Amino acid sequence: MQGVPQPTRDEVLKLPRVHISSHPVMAHKMTLLRNKNTPPPQFYQLVKEIGSLLAYEATENLALEKSEIETPLQSTTGYRLAGGIGVTPILRAGLGLAEGFRQVIPDVQVWHLGLRRDEETLQAMEYYNRLPHQVDLQVVYAVDPMLATGGSAIDAINILKRRGIPRLSYLGIIAAPYGLQRLAQAHPDIDIYVAALDESLNDMGYIVPGLGDAGDRQFGTF
Ligand code: URA
Repeated sequence: MQGVPQPTRDEVLKLPRVHISSHPVMAHKMTLLRNKNTPPPQFYQLVKEIGSLLAYEATENLALEKSEIETPLQSTTGYRLAGGIGVTPILRAGLGLAEGFRQVIPDVQVWHLGLRRDEETLQAMEYYNRLPHQVDLQVVYAVDPMLATGGSAIDAINILKRRGIPRLSYLGIIAAPYGLQRLAQAHPDIDIYVAALDESLNDMGYIVPGLGDAGDRQFGTF
């Protein structure tokens, strides 16, 4: 990222459809997650918990349909989520977030998508794709912890859009202003949910202060 101009936090905070968590429990868990002394098992557990909290925040506007049920005492009208919900973990770092999402909505469809960053060009490359051919979902969430340059997120949303999904959102843990701005400009029709917005990207394309490599820290591959 040497020599590439990056927007400030204040500039991207004005973008529409960007949601940055302000929940105190999230801030608490983020501090544990960022700490370099947090070992992989606890780190993975925290990613799942943050995935659950983000899922809760990001599903606040989902459509409901009426559902008639019998309680032990009488019949009543309840509500259930209308249509299916999909979650697409971008491999491999998105796996923990998707797992946390499933703990909130266990019957989500999980569509794995393998995109990796070319270390030299920082471009996203597709190497694995298990998206179904039949789509009958109200919304799909692409999940990837670190919104750094935005390349993988933009590519993932492009791939999902080609499947004809009516509504797409992105869910991540930390965004850099640069990646957030690129994603919001490339896909102004999606909502973006993150737990935190950091300062910038360093010359290696890492988010600072950040948390390091989210994949290595989840899976202990240092
Ligand atoms: N991917 C990571 O895992 N961490 C970063 O800081 C940037 C991209």
